[in-house]
Amino acid sequence: MLYTGLLRVRSFNALEPKLQEKTFLRFVGAQRERMRLCSVDTLSRALRVTDLESARAVSVSIVQKAERNKVFREGWHGALRYVAIDGWEPFSSRNRHCSECLVRHVRVKQGDGSVAEVPEYYHRFAVAMLIDKRFDLLLDFEPLLPKDLRRITPKAAKGKTRSVVKADEDEGELTAATRLLKRVKQTFEWIDVVVGDALYANGPFLTTTTKLGLGAVIIARKEGDEPLKEALQIWGNQPPHKLVEDKESRESIELWDCPELETLQSYAGKIRCVRGRVTRLAHPDKPPSTWCMLVVGKALRLAPEKVLAVARARWHIENTGFHQWTARWQFDHVFTHHANGIRALFWLFFAAFNLLTLFLYCQLRSYGRDRGKHVTRTISRLVDEMLDDLVLLDTAGCDSS
Ligand SMILES: [Zn+2]
Repeated sequence: MLYTGLLRVRSFNALEPKLQEKTFLRFVGAQRERMRLCSVDTLSRALRVTDLESARAVSVSIVQKAERNKVFREGWHGALRYVAIDGWEPFSSRNRHCSECLVRHVRVKQGDGSVAEVPEYYHRFAVAMLIDKRFDLLLDFEPLLPKDLRRITPKAAKGKTRSVVKADEDEGELTAATRLLKRVKQTFEWIDVVVGDALYANGPFLTTTTKLGLGAVIIARKEGDEPLKEALQIWGNQPPHKLVEDKESRESIELWDCPELETLQSYAGKIRCVRGRVTRLAHPDKPPSTWCMLVVGKALRLAPEKVLAVARARWHIENTGFHQWTARWQFDHVFTHHANGIRALFWLFFAAFNLLTLFLYCQLRSYGRDRGKHVTRTISRLVDEMLDDLVLLDTAGCDSS
């Protein structure tokens, strides 16, 4: 399955014939006398009973080894290491479902023109990705649980009469993300700052990050919510506090900074608020785009333009991550619709993704450098070249070990 991920084989149907091709057998290191590896049914069954901790350990150990080898030593902005957190829904189905499917009801037009409400099953995950100038690596993911699998905290269960309490709703992204972030910090203690979208701009989440010893840069959108409301009032009509011209991206950036806001009741500390207004010099006719960020912990040391750069780097998780995983890898194809099977498969695919990214930028440095800044395209190009070269394993008779 690791090689299936690495070579982007698109389905079990496409994999089946490969399991008896000489090239593939050599590639995966099968014994020479073997004519066939196994059936895809065997693979599917194996995924369903795979121990998830072992599968996760494959990917985790790759990232940890890179860290020990000082790959991330220099950090990024402000010499810090960043993790972006976001929600991800790789697929949905109106037919098949499993014990961990979430469900929503959608209105669908029937053959006779009438509209009916049908259940749609889907899986959603909170995802944690290391974001960096080059190394965007998957650190961990956590499924959002359906209501019948949720364990209710004693506080939330108050007032309910039964001793075993079931939740009324499927889990929200924040709950799964909080669980995820704790595990990320426990596993990768060298992570410094978490980066999140406006969903995370709330007191309880900021409190969690602070308790874990993490800094945070979170996008704030709601102008009526504290502490952004207070910051906007203080800034009023003030001219920008700082003006930065970025020659490389041809942008003019106006910045406002408010260091110690205490108006968010649900957070015990001080929060810094930064606003950046970006004008693209190449398109002066386009209206400038404005970003507001909440900053706590270790991220407080960043200059305001760096805070903005970190917040904007959040697109790495959507572009290098989610988009690439579905458009170029096969994460949206359901190889096996089984709660354990899906997660086991994802862990192996993520191990392949991390390994490939590290290989590209550590071992083939000039390959990455010569192909410009577009990480996704560079990785795809490399995979195409690897596929072309695969046949040489046969003709050159090279040892797959
Ligand atoms: Zn399912």
